[in-house]
Amino acid sequence: NLKPIKSKRRSRDELQQLIGAFNEMVERLEREFDKQDQFVSDASHELRTPLTVIDGYATMLKRWGKTKPEVLDEAIEAITEEGARMKHLAEQLLLLVKDGEYLQLDPEHFHLDAVLQKAARAMETATQRQIHFQVSQAPTVYADVEKVKQVLYIILDNALKYSDKAIDVSVWQENRAAYVSITDYGAGIPEADQARIFDRFYRINKARSRGDGGTGLGLSIAAKLMEAQGGRIKLDSKVGAYTTFTIEIPIGEGAEMK
Ligand code: ADP
Repeated sequence: NLKPIKSKRRSRDELQQLIGAFNEMVERLEREFDKQDQFVSDASHELRTPLTVIDGYATMLKRWGKTKPEVLDEAIEAITEEGARMKHLAEQLLLLVKDGEYLQLDPEHFHLDAVLQKAARAMETATQRQIHFQVSQAPTVYADVEKVKQVLYIILDNALKYSDKAIDVSVWQENRAAYVSITDYGAGIPEADQARIFDRFYRINKARSRGDGGTGLGLSIAAKLMEAQGGRIKLDSKVGAYTTFTIEIPIGEGAEMK
């Protein structure tokens, strides 16, 4: 008569295990839901601010638009600016909600140094700032060139936005990966913020960043775009001294055959 007791105990153990696994699953789901709630609430808040501004200026236009030309000019400028901000934000949000696996990749062979140089020159022209360029090696990678460009623009844009000195950019190859590093000599990123800098909507100084038209989404998008193609972004920074973002891109299948 030992058998049924044994199997009873065993099934009780199994049941306990199952309950444990189930609870863990529920907790994980709850954490995911919390994150989703936070995302939706942050997104609504960010979209609401420009809407409030647009609404305010529309009211001003209704009252004084026909009689005061200076009100007309100011309102049109503000509405256009906030409209553009909302469009940019909506585009960023759309990119973010796409699941990693649904993010369509269109890889091709390209010279990373050439793409970086082009992006850097475009930013130099647009901002009238200096970017020093250093190429140790000129790696060819097999990746989605448009997504890599987007990542470069996000990091270059930040480097120019959060510092006022010249920027250093370099590109090299090591083992099976290609690297791009972008260094600025601006405010730097405090150690306590470094882990969170890639979180959606995270900004070190919300009040200050707001004026730059920042959304706090750039780096989370950049990280996602790199991870989708097996790459990553590393950060090294010292407050008051420098910030270096290094992008790592796997060389990719057959890249060096070209
Ligand atoms: P945004 O720039 O739109 O606010 P990001 O996701 O690109 O959003 O960056 C998040 C935050 O990280 C920025 O608000 C800023 O506080 C900080 N940050 C990013 N790049 C730099 C940099 N090069 N130097 C100092 N701080 C930076």
